[in-house]
Amino acid sequence: MKMLKFYQDRGLNIVKGKDQYVWDNQGNKYLDLHAGHGVAFLGHNNKTIIEYLKKQMEEIITLTPAFDTPIREEMLKELDTIKPENLDNVFLLNSGSEAIELAIKISRKITKRKKIIAFKNSFHGRTMGALAVTWNKKYREPFEPLIEPVEFLEYNNLDSLKKISDDVAAVIVEPVQGEGGVIPAKKEFMKALREITEKTGSLLIIDEVQTGFGRTGKIWAYQHFDIKPDILTAGKAIGGGFPVSAVFLPDWIGEKLEEGDHGSTYGGNPLATAAVTAACKVLKSENVPEQAREKGELFIKILKEKLEDFKSVREIRGLGLMIGIDLRFNPSTTIKILQDEKVLSLKAGLTVVRFLPPYLITQYDMEWASNAARKGISETERTKLAS
Ligand SMILES: *Cc1c(COP(=O)(O)O)cnc(C)c1O
Repeated sequence: MKMLKFYQDRGLNIVKGKDQYVWDNQGNKYLDLHAGHGVAFLGHNNKTIIEYLKKQMEEIITLTPAFDTPIREEMLKELDTIKPENLDNVFLLNSGSEAIELAIKISRKITKRKKIIAFKNSFHGRTMGALAVTWNKKYREPFEPLIEPVEFLEYNNLDSLKKISDDVAAVIVEPVQGEGGVIPAKKEFMKALREITEKTGSLLIIDEVQTGFGRTGKIWAYQHFDIKPDILTAGKAIGGGFPVSAVFLPDWIGEKLEEGDHGSTYGGNPLATAAVTAACKVLKSENVPEQAREKGELFIKILKEKLEDFKSVREIRGLGLMIGIDLRFNPSTTIKILQDEKVLSLKAGLTVVRFLPPYLITQYDMEWASNAARKGISETERTKLAS
């Protein structure tokens, strides 16, 4: 049996993970700034997550949401302490894309409108609905027609927002575009977007699958912008490594949804629920958002000190522990050299090396990564000059 080649093979066989590190089958230790696309934000094999999962496994592994169960009550209490403001209703699903699907479905049902607005360079997932609001043509075009109509506007451009009219069901936006190139939204842009969607009666869906759960220095990234979403989607980090996603929404929307509007066999199963419960506890007891804010600032400072003299470094930017080094060339060779230096990272957009570190990253790790990036960029520059 062969695995389908949807991902480029990184040529490593990883056997173990602990905190911000992973080990390959040769015994090499890597600093993991890839973290499974940011999923391992609370660190690999976090002991609280493991403890909750183990305990739940001994009780019951599977149960449809039609039945109550103690771990669910415990999770709802935990979520109350970290939930997005006024979004008192939650539904759990299994992946970020599925959360987007539900958010889109709800916006159509609530507004009785069809059109969705998304932004250039957006990424919202690979299922047919999530893909329809994802910008990259390479991901999208072979599978069209997808859901319609969808219009893509310029991100961070206030003028482009004039195109939002009262036939728009929802606008979906990432507070920091992740896959598209680690591009933080401007505050004026997010505020204008909130105002316009309020005026047109369109729902504002904030996709925090990558930015949420402390990653950017606040529990939710929208909290940087002095606005509130109508619907918020979360995923990646929220289960401490366990596959789970969530859609949060307010009572006024929740009250209009009915039995049968949505469902999911595995959604909110007891293990996912235990994982989210534990993740909330870690988030609070370790002051994770605060650590992400401080460490993110330090990491960007160190990266700037070590890399800013390179002509090929266009910009070093980010928010909290979501960081990008924007280069003047394709970042693949640099990412490969980083890996040879035992630092795992990932690509974003066409030119960006992206770091999504676990919150446990230390100053020592940051220097290690920055020196590795220095080596990666200078070697890439040299081979470019030679060719
Ligand atoms: C990763 C991601 C998704 C899709 O999540 P999956 O779990 O891969 O389906 C959606 N939105 C954003 C912003 C993401 O980063």
